[in-house]
Amino acid sequence: MKHTQSESLHEEAQHHIVGGVNSPSRAYKGVGGGTPVYMKYGSGPYFYDVDDNEYIDFLAAYGPIVTGHAHPHITEAIQDQAAKGVLYGTPTELENTFAKMLKEAIPSLEKVRFVNSGTEAVMTTIRVARAYTKREKVIKFAGCYHGHSDIVLVQAGSGPSTLGNPDSAGVTKGTASEVITVPFNDLEAYKEALRLWGEEVACVLVEPIVGNFGIVEPDPGFLKAVNQLTHENGSLVIYDEVITAFRFTYGSAQQLYNIEPDLTALGKVIGGGLPIGAYGGRVDIMEQVAPLGPAYQAGTMAGNPLSMRAGIACLEVLKEDGIYDEMDRLGLRLEEGILAHAKNHEIEITINRLKGALTVYFTNNIIRNYADAAATDTEKFGEFFHLMLEQGINLAPSKYEAWFLTITHTDKEINQTLEAVDYAFSKMQE
Ligand code: PLP
Repeated sequence: MKHTQSESLHEEAQHHIVGGVNSPSRAYKGVGGGTPVYMKYGSGPYFYDVDDNEYIDFLAAYGPIVTGHAHPHITEAIQDQAAKGVLYGTPTELENTFAKMLKEAIPSLEKVRFVNSGTEAVMTTIRVARAYTKREKVIKFAGCYHGHSDIVLVQAGSGPSTLGNPDSAGVTKGTASEVITVPFNDLEAYKEALRLWGEEVACVLVEPIVGNFGIVEPDPGFLKAVNQLTHENGSLVIYDEVITAFRFTYGSAQQLYNIEPDLTALGKVIGGGLPIGAYGGRVDIMEQVAPLGPAYQAGTMAGNPLSMRAGIACLEVLKEDGIYDEMDRLGLRLEEGILAHAKNHEIEITINRLKGALTVYFTNNIIRNYADAAATDTEKFGEFFHLMLEQGINLAPSKYEAWFLTITHTDKEINQTLEAVDYAFSKMQE
């Protein structure tokens, strides 16, 4: 497979765009290097690059493209709205329509507010929780990504008894000292954090199904216990459902586990591929937000008609019967096929899968938290990634990401992918 056009574009990009990419995960640092492939257009489950290579896409733009590329219903909605103007700076009926759709799909959202990204959504839920509880500290789980606001770019200290350390240059020690990080699925560590810092804790930030060190489900009872302990402590539970909402079901992970947080952050899928975020929750908490309350949050682009139309159209598509069951069926085929090839070629892997999302870890161990995921074989993943790419299978360039199916993948794409896996594993054993 030739990549000469991608190589020359990437060479040029590095003169103009820092690192040549507009989001670090697009560079191939996590897979031993290489030139990122420059895509020209997408259609359904397929991608075409600037060298005219075809790929089956499992990146789905890191989650949002659950309806496949250029879905006709969403494209039509975007085109129609573009002709009517893309940004008004006034309220529109579209915002009401979309807010009602989200509330119907996720009942814990008594009131919502639209923003422009998952980062903004999470950042604001923390501000609102602090305003409501009049406390400042935040508990989060190690390895979970919640966007790039300062408060969540904090890594774990040496345990629940220690406060966090900055995870990025530019994040102050002061900010890091507001965050306590505990391992996911570790209830004892969570209890210890609350015992030590409880009175100062405004909220806990939870990815109810982790999507950022691969797909990791909560242990049975974990989410319920976190909810109960947090509320007993007078703190709020925030679910970051930026990845999970509308990925596994029409609605959110909270419905899958029959549990309600106080606030929820949304993004990705709800924009149908356009920039969006939203947050919402209990009405008495949401009324902290300006213009009703003292917590400020605003946005020139927030609730823009283009994103609203794309989001409404996307949810209309996802509402159709059987969509999530079909992604589940294909996901299972993929999982079973990859495991069978791994067995044949004596490659050690573990797969975590939930419906149409899965992660292949190069290890024999069970993955329940970030430390487990971090200990898996990075080099092997890098080799696998490049072998798949060369065969026209586009995966996320990191061992910590998921493969995302879309509603446009079919048995044909799964068969082709499994053939590529078979070949990749055979090469890895040479
Ligand atoms: N929260 C989660 C769980 C995410 O996975 C991400 C992005 O990957 C974010 C928040 C940030 O969203 P955005 O990239 O739209 O700012």
